[in-house]
Amino acid sequence: MSADIIDGKAFAATIRGKVADHVKALHDEHGLVPGLAVVLVGEDPASQVYVRNKGKQTEEAGMASFEHRLPAETSEEDLLALIARLNAAPAVHGILVQLPLPDHIDEAKVINAIDVAKDVDGFHISNVGLLATGQKALVPCTPLGCLMLLRDRLGALSGLDAVVVGRSNIVGKPMAHLLLRDSCTVTVAHSRTRDLAQVCRRADILVAAVGRPEMIPGDWIKPGATVIDVGINRIPAPERGEGKTRLVGDVHFESAAQVAGAITPVPGGVGPMTIACLLANTVTACCRAHGLVEPE
Ligand code: NDP
Repeated sequence: MSADIIDGKAFAATIRGKVADHVKALHDEHGLVPGLAVVLVGEDPASQVYVRNKGKQTEEAGMASFEHRLPAETSEEDLLALIARLNAAPAVHGILVQLPLPDHIDEAKVINAIDVAKDVDGFHISNVGLLATGQKALVPCTPLGCLMLLRDRLGALSGLDAVVVGRSNIVGKPMAHLLLRDSCTVTVAHSRTRDLAQVCRRADILVAAVGRPEMIPGDWIKPGATVIDVGINRIPAPERGEGKTRLVGDVHFESAAQVAGAITPVPGGVGPMTIACLLANTVTACCRAHGLVEPE
């Protein structure tokens, strides 16, 4: 194996430490406590785990956590009424609605009802537009985490060839905008891309956000490239015992690590960065709300 393994878990812990320092300073110097409200509708098991982790890490950073768990049959009207209350609550600086929402609720309508200044997930159409036009926005947490890992590893990204595989609104597209903002030459690939292998081979930076287990093999990777694997896929692992599973990324780690210069593992790469960036976005939102200097 030749690639350096990018330790997202350790990096995320560093960010959480910085967030906690900033939170303490906000409290000591301004009497402020950044607050994050997380809204969960229904009982999706994966979403419940995410929400629990978010609440725990929010409190560990010294911030206030407000959890709103609503039954699956909650009406769109009631959810919008809750969002309106959270928008008006001075103690709430960030609002996150856990996706997916039940089918009878219009996701876009709910997300766009969140106060833009409190939209710490960065999914509100105005934040999307601000990012796309290179203005100050709240940026989606997963791509923001990827960018931080890339800057930490590579320093300035200017002029590098970046390929993002996946064009979702939550990962692929914002990732592409962030890389463009850092002056990369960006290609966005997707399910209709012709000769994906060849496209990937020209990437100095390869970001995989597809959701297909180990679909990118080592021989699609340019020697020395930095590979960020966003994918989280659970696959059967009979070698661990009957019915056991394990997590893998969108990149075939063993073969890719022979070729890449650096690569994120799954788990322990991009995953831990997402919540760390959510906490950082909440502090940013709190600072902006009070006209204070925001963290870098
Ligand atoms: P989506 O399903 O919304 O998007 C997947 C994208 O991959 C689409 O743009 C799709 O193309 C593209 N795609 C699908 N098949 C292929 C293919 N064969 N070749 C090339 N492109 C293909 O997924 P998300 O963006 O929401 O998530 C992607 C992965 O990242 C998932 O594994 C998810 O679990 C993980 N994830 C991890 C997070 C973390 O915290 N680490 C956070 C969010 C997501 P098209 O548009 O043409 O259909």
